[in-house]
Amino acid sequence: MFSSVFAAGIISKAVRDGRLDLRVHDLRDYTTDKHRQVDDRPYGGEEGMVFKPEPVFAAVEAVKGGENMPVYLLSAAGRRFDDGLAREIALRPRVMLVCGRYEGVDERVALHLATDEISIGDYVVTGGELPSMVVVDAVARHIPGVVGKEGSVRRESFADGLLDYPQYTRPREFRGMTVPEVLFSGDHEKIEAWRRRKALEKTRRRRPDLLARVSLSPEDRMLLDEISEERNES
Ligand code: SAM
Repeated sequence: MFSSVFAAGIISKAVRDGRLDLRVHDLRDYTTDKHRQVDDRPYGGEEGMVFKPEPVFAAVEAVKGGENMPVYLLSAAGRRFDDGLAREIALRPRVMLVCGRYEGVDERVALHLATDEISIGDYVVTGGELPSMVVVDAVARHIPGVVGKEGSVRRESFADGLLDYPQYTRPREFRGMTVPEVLFSGDHEKIEAWRRRKALEKTRRRRPDLLARVSLSPEDRMLLDEISEERNES
């Protein structure tokens, strides 16, 4: 799973350039029985299987090798993953992500081994692999040099607490749908003001919760007042 996703694009280039070092470990390599069993039935009598604590502890301890690093357990019950957490993780020289499967992981891993639990959203997927790839990708984008022009990360959604402004490219007209005139004005100040306004507008409409947390300049507040007036009029 991991090689198919990370073999191409920005992540594989980051690995080739030595900016990112990704290692995938197989839990079965840390079992001691001949069947290399990593799971067992849950106590209390439920359907399904749960990851046993021994191979998870053994794997994490062996990979850590005495080094102090955060261990994040992927779990639907975890702290919601967002851009802030991605930036926080990107500052760490090394981190470990533990992926669950089946019905999950013996709770002692969350209680006594993991530094924190991370959830990619309020839904359940089959295993921690996809969530961990989402985390790796989003974190890697915050490692200097990984994304070609660092500016493109700086200006993306959430970078300044707002959603991204709308983007357009050629052709200027497509099936009668046109590109906003201001983008052809050549006036960079005017374009920046338009982008800021659109970012505020979109965030206000779709994610008002973000607006409540972001620190806004007096100009932003004026723009927001204008936007609300326009909405009230229409
Ligand atoms: N019984 C668990 C529950 O209800 O929360 C679901 C287990 S899920 C089928 C198997 C594994 O997928 C979990 O141990 C976790 O590693 C991963 N997983 C599922 N949904 C996730 C999410 N939203 N965020 C992060 N990891 C998730």
